[in-house]
Amino acid sequence: MRLILLGPPGAGKGTQAQRLTEKLGIPQVSTGDMLRAAVAAGTALGREAKAYMDQGALVPDGVVIGIIRERLAAPDCRRGYILDGFPRTAAQAEALGKTVEDLGTPLTAVLSLTVDPDEVVRRLSGRRTCGTCGAAYHVENAPPRRAGVCDRCGGALVQREDDREETIRKRLSVYRDQTAPLVAYYRGGGLLREVDGRGEIDDIFTRICRLLGAEGRGRH
Ligand code: AMP
Repeated sequence: MRLILLGPPGAGKGTQAQRLTEKLGIPQVSTGDMLRAAVAAGTALGREAKAYMDQGALVPDGVVIGIIRERLAAPDCRRGYILDGFPRTAAQAEALGKTVEDLGTPLTAVLSLTVDPDEVVRRLSGRRTCGTCGAAYHVENAPPRRAGVCDRCGGALVQREDDREETIRKRLSVYRDQTAPLVAYYRGGGLLREVDGRGEIDDIFTRICRLLGAEGRGRH
């Protein structure tokens, strides 16, 4: 399956992508994770991306499109992948369309996770991520067994630089202006499946699996 998870920051894309990866055995491809890794490694790409990310702005299209092209051509993506955080602009969606066409591997579905903006702010300000393995937690909704420590690998949990309230507001307005139009774009192409992103993580995952089960019967 080749899936896109679409939705505002804090909609649960990363959390649900992680679950889907475990269930389907295909990789999660997160441009945000790849960019954070480049920042942490201090590469030229990381240095360029950091200034945009710290402000809650988008990294230029050319940069992320290049990263994704290379990633989707890797051997572990042959059986499928879950795109999380890409595409985020019309230009990225068009470049992705061209890439999957060149590879002869059409997208299976675009899952659009819907949540309201106040809930997004609440989720993101309580979000904590493992600095080592990237696992996601929430101080109230999904706390780790031991405060500040990852259940999976024992790494230290950190708050992302861009999960501060002011930057969250900016990221939401960027989403509204640049990414939300992709919902209509993919609806027009017949690929869009809307998923209610409110409530418990397990319930949202069940909704997604149900949708994909129906999807699987029809197409694979
Ligand atoms: P995320 O982890 O998906 O919330 O992404 C964190 C930040 O990385 C975003 O606020 C952007 O600065 C940058 N970023 C991630 N994915 C993209 C993308 N597809 N296009 C442009 N910038 C991106």
